[in-house]
Amino acid sequence: MSLESSPWETACVQLEKAVRHLGLDDGMHDLLRTPRRSVTVSVPLRRDDGQLLVLTGYRVQHNLARGPAKGGIRYHPSTDLDEVKALAMWMTWKCALMGIPYGGAKGGIAVEPSMLSPAERERMTRRYAAELVPLIGPEKDIPAPDVGTDEQTMAWLMDTYSAHSGYTAHGVVTGKPLAIGGSAGRAGATSRGVQLATFSALRERGLDPREVTVAVQGFGKVGALAAQYLHDAGCRVVAVSDVKGGIYNPGGLNPAALIRHLARGADTVVGYPGTDTISNAELLELDVDVLVPAALEGVVTAANAERVRARIIVEGANGPVTADADEVLAERGVLVVPDILANGGGVAVSYFEWVQGLQAYFWTEDQVNDRLRELMERAYNQVSAMASEHRLSLREAAHVIGVGRVAEAHRTRGLYP
Ligand code: NAD
Repeated sequence: MSLESSPWETACVQLEKAVRHLGLDDGMHDLLRTPRRSVTVSVPLRRDDGQLLVLTGYRVQHNLARGPAKGGIRYHPSTDLDEVKALAMWMTWKCALMGIPYGGAKGGIAVEPSMLSPAERERMTRRYAAELVPLIGPEKDIPAPDVGTDEQTMAWLMDTYSAHSGYTAHGVVTGKPLAIGGSAGRAGATSRGVQLATFSALRERGLDPREVTVAVQGFGKVGALAAQYLHDAGCRVVAVSDVKGGIYNPGGLNPAALIRHLARGADTVVGYPGTDTISNAELLELDVDVLVPAALEGVVTAANAERVRARIIVEGANGPVTADADEVLAERGVLVVPDILANGGGVAVSYFEWVQGLQAYFWTEDQVNDRLRELMERAYNQVSAMASEHRLSLREAAHVIGVGRVAEAHRTRGLYP
């Protein structure tokens, strides 16, 4: 990844703009930028064939001023400390913006999980979890799924932490299976939030959801259900993709049928009957109304931002648009709904799961979805009002609110000693 599009660089540019707008001093700027704790751990794994493979894992707690650290665990070959630091910083602003009492964290292992057997994935996860035991906990740091991890990963993490603690600790992870204290509605929460944010943006631009076309990059946990919810709500989803490439049908796709096709064993969306094959680069430049990047960061850059034809970009992924690309898109009048707002539904329902676990009292899916809608619409309206009042982009406004709340928490708590 080039320095220009490094996620950490992008995150620091976004922070700096918010700090300038808020008039914060250099000391506070340093405090807000510097991760509170960055841990690199060695994760030795005994492969099924007896070989020893030593992997590298990370956990960064970016900021704890507003509450325990919160953020996903990623298994991906390009995961490194720079990426994890950026993702942890975005979690800090996201939790503050969504109005939930958490700080920000992120973690991961540099590994391609599909190369491992299920038993190897379990051993790797448990060894990584054991290394994190001193750092994580229901009141300290609460991991969740991200790219390459799922509810099974969370179950192993919770079980390993519980074994070390000597009691069952539901609250140490979110995004866990229902059978062990997961929340109704968590699996689709990020995607539901993306759909709600898209609808708020369409309203802002005076567009009728039943008349818009959508392209979704990344048909994983976030992208697949975002495509389905947008389709179910009346939008025409014309293209989706995964790491192997994309598919396009100008007449519209049926995401639910595509999800069933993958569940039956297909390992990619490419080749799905009735579609043309396109590349991920082509998907980003399709003539659609709404583009939802829901794979990895740094995909819309200064190099391709001129060619993006969508009128609205809703960031399902974290950091898909670089700071340079943001400026090009703003000049061209493209409305970008930023990650810390657009995908905030995931951490909102993670928070609901943690609250339900602490109370040992569980809500219905309708209750979860109603409260999710409330939080998403409140955050969107606050960002939109801040943007129009101060003539800021939605990203700048979202950061001003999030960063401002964290700075206020620091000022209120004071500095120890
Ligand atoms: P996932 O692993 O379930 O899915 C990722 C998808 O992206 C897969 O379809 C994969 O094939 C595709 N992909 C991977 N590399 C790609 C590439 N180079 N080009 C195109 N496609 C590629 O992950 P996810 O949980 O859906 O996360 C996706 C994004 O959403 C990430 O940025 C993550 O941080 C963000 N996010 C996830 C959640 C959540 O609840 N899972 C919450 C908030 C934000």
